[in-house]
Amino acid sequence: MRDCLKHFINGEWVESTGSKTIDVINPATEEVIGRISDGTKEDLDKAVAAARAAFPSFSETTKEERIQLLNRIADEYEKRKEDIVETITQELGAPLTLSEKAHYNMGLAHFRQAAKDLESFEFTEKRGNTVIRKEPIGVSGLITPWNFPTNQTSTKLASAFAAGCTVVLKPSEMTPFAAIILAEIFEAAGLPKGVFNLVNGTGEVVGNGISSHPDIDFVSFTGSGAVGQKVTENAAKTIKKVALELGGKSPMIILDDYDMKKAAKIAVSNVIFNSGQVCTLASRTLVPKSKLDEFVEAVKEILPHYPVGNPQDAKSALGPLISEKQYKRVQGYIEKGMEEGATLVAGGTGKPEGFEKGYYVKPTVFTDVKNDMVIAQEEIFGPVMSIIAYDNLDEAIEIANDTIYGLAGYVVGEDEETVQKVASSIRAGRITINSGASDFSAPFGGYKQSGIGREWGEYGIEEYLEVKAVVGVPS
Ligand code: NAD
Repeated sequence: MRDCLKHFINGEWVESTGSKTIDVINPATEEVIGRISDGTKEDLDKAVAAARAAFPSFSETTKEERIQLLNRIADEYEKRKEDIVETITQELGAPLTLSEKAHYNMGLAHFRQAAKDLESFEFTEKRGNTVIRKEPIGVSGLITPWNFPTNQTSTKLASAFAAGCTVVLKPSEMTPFAAIILAEIFEAAGLPKGVFNLVNGTGEVVGNGISSHPDIDFVSFTGSGAVGQKVTENAAKTIKKVALELGGKSPMIILDDYDMKKAAKIAVSNVIFNSGQVCTLASRTLVPKSKLDEFVEAVKEILPHYPVGNPQDAKSALGPLISEKQYKRVQGYIEKGMEEGATLVAGGTGKPEGFEKGYYVKPTVFTDVKNDMVIAQEEIFGPVMSIIAYDNLDEAIEIANDTIYGLAGYVVGEDEETVQKVASSIRAGRITINSGASDFSAPFGGYKQSGIGREWGEYGIEEYLEVKAVVGVPS
C-alpha cells in the first residue's frame, strides 16, 4: 500500500485538516494500491497562503537562478526514473515500456526545455522611451487530469517556475502518486519553501476551491470541456485569467499518394497510444474513397501487432483504461457506433479474451462512418478509430473542420505542397505530418472548444506572465 495522507505545503508534508481519504485503484487489477487525503478548503487556504508568501522573493529571482533550478529539478527527476515509471504503470495502467518512453520522458523534457527556452527569453524590451516588462502573473492554481500524470503536471510546473510564479497543484485523484514524487524531487532540488504546494483531493472541493480562490491570480486547467466551463465560470467572479487544455476529436487526413500499409501503421499506432486516452488522438481517420478497401485491409493486418496486455509485461502495447467509469463510457460509444450503422472492422464490445479483471477494452475500428454520427463527433477517450471516406481534398478538409474541437490534426502524404496546404487548412493548434516526432519547444493547445492558451516551450512560459509598459522617462 502506498499511502500518502499528507499535503505538501510551504516545503513540508503536513497532515490534512480533514480525516477523509480517497482510494487509488490499479486499473489492471482493480485493487486498491494506496490512499491519499481528501483535501479540504482549509488545506487549500494554507497552500495558497504559502504560495502567496513565497511569491515576492521567488518572483525576483534572476533568470539565471531559475535556469539552474530547472536543471537541478531535471537532474533529480532523472534519479527517480525507476520509481516514476513503476508508479505510472500502477496508477494509470500504462505498460512499462510506455511509462518509460512516453510518460517519463515527456515529464523530463518539459523541465529541460523550459531551462533551454529561458536562456533566450527576453523579459524586457525597450522601444524608444518605453520599456515593456514581462512579470510573473502571481500565484497559479494548476489542475491536471489522469491521462498523462507527469506530462500534464510538468509542463505547467516548468513554465510556472521559469516565469517566476509560485503554485498550488491539484493533480487527478485517480493518479496522484506521480505528483507526490514530483514534490520529493522539488525538495531534493532545493526549490524554495512555498514555491510549490500540493493539495490532493476532489475536483468538487479542491478544484472548485482553486478556480474561485480570491488569492489565486491564474488558473491553468487540463481536463474535460464540462469542467473547463465550470472553472471559467468560477474564475470569472474574480476576473482571473484562465488557460484551458480540453478535449479533441482530431482528424487524420490520409492522402492518396501515400502507401496505405504505412498509413495504416501510423493511424493504428496513434489510436492505441495510451489506450486511446489522449486528448490529441487521431480518432477520425479520413481516407480517399478509392483507397478505402486497401486501407481497411491494412488496418486489419496491422492491429494484432499491438496486443492488449498486462502493463507489467514488456510485450503489451496497450493496457486497461483508467477506471470502470471510462470502461463503461467507451463500451457505450462502441454500441452507439453499431446502432448508428457504422461497420465494425475489428474489436467491439466486451473485454478482450482472458481479461476478466481490469478495465481492458478491445481496440476497435469502425468504417463507413459518417461525420455526423455520435462516434465521429464526441470524444470517446479510448482506442476507437472511425474511418470516414472522402471523395476529394476539399471534402476531406470540410469534414476535418466539421467539429466543435480544434486541438490537433494529422496529414499523411508524400507531396510536400499538398501536405502543407492541407496542414494550413485544418483549424487546430497542432498539426503533425506523417509520423513526425514531438517537438517540446513548439506550442501545444487548441482552437475552438479545445481550449484557451498554449503550453510547452516559450509560449507556455508566456501564459504565466503579465505585460507591463513603463512609458516615458523622468524629466
Ligand atoms: P476532468 O475534467 O474530469 O478532471 C480533470 C481535473 O479536474 C481532475 O483533477 C479533477 O479532479 C478536476 N476537477 C473535477 N471537477 C472539477 C471542478 N468542478 N473544478 C475544478 N476541477 C475539477 O477530466 P479527466 O477525466 O481527468 O480527463 C479527461 C479529459 O481531459 C478528456 O476530456 C481529455 O480530452 C481532457 N484532456 C485534455 C488535454 C489537453 O491538453 N487538451 C490533455 C489531457 C486530457
